[in-house]
Amino acid sequence: MQLTFLGTGTAAPLFGRRPSSILLKNGDFTGLLDIGSGAVHSLAATNVDPINLNALFISHFHSDHSADMIMLLHSNGATPGKIRTAPLKIYGPQGLRTFIDGILKLFPETEPETYSLDLKENPQNEKIISNMKVDCFRTEHTVNSIGYRFRINDFEFVYTGDCSFSMELIHSCTGADMMITECSFADRKETADHLTPAYAAELAKEAGVKDLIIIHRYPQTLKEGVEHEISSVYSGRLFFPQDGQMISFGE
Ligand SMILES: [Zn+2]
Ligand SMILES: [Zn+2]
Repeated sequence: MQLTFLGTGTAAPLFGRRPSSILLKNGDFTGLLDIGSGAVHSLAATNVDPINLNALFISHFHSDHSADMIMLLHSNGATPGKIRTAPLKIYGPQGLRTFIDGILKLFPETEPETYSLDLKENPQNEKIISNMKVDCFRTEHTVNSIGYRFRINDFEFVYTGDCSFSMELIHSCTGADMMITECSFADRKETADHLTPAYAAELAKEAGVKDLIIIHRYPQTLKEGVEHEISSVYSGRLFFPQDGQMISFGE
């Protein structure tokens, strides 16, 4: 299983740090975890054609996680010489259908004509392909935000999306081999709907994950050396990917 970090940034404009999107490859399967702006064009640097994406997993509808849905639907229907026929599966929180319907109405060019959209809100125990399943769990960020827990063969990992620290979140992540989570703000600038280095470290430590990947960093947390802060609490393997970086797991 390979993850390519198309966007490790936030809504704050910063060269080299696009908003959230991660390409997941598992054999022939390709999916995106969130689709912030720039994600579709970032795919051009990989060997995955947007027309062949199998599925999307949306954590919430903030634009830094969802804006390139418009571009993906447009490019799937308007790339000269290419016609998409395979369905596109889209998983997301409650409200996904309303979100997609809104895009199709505002941007008529995004309406699929040669393929279907297969939408699923709040997936539970969902078989994606033969060796891959997904569950979602509630996160405290927006009224309907979710994270995902994937199982590929015996390897389990969680993607929290944006979140704040809670016992419920620890419970949802416990026992996973690897966690991808956010670290938006410095500890003294904490908010009610994001993690800081101390909270991200505590979450990973309490959940007992072996590997921790930190993304969604506002400029401040890129400057202030959160690596040391997190590693002083959490002793597993730590990753701070750059945009475009690929990491393999469970192989
Ligand atoms: Zn965000
Ligand atoms: Zn958000």
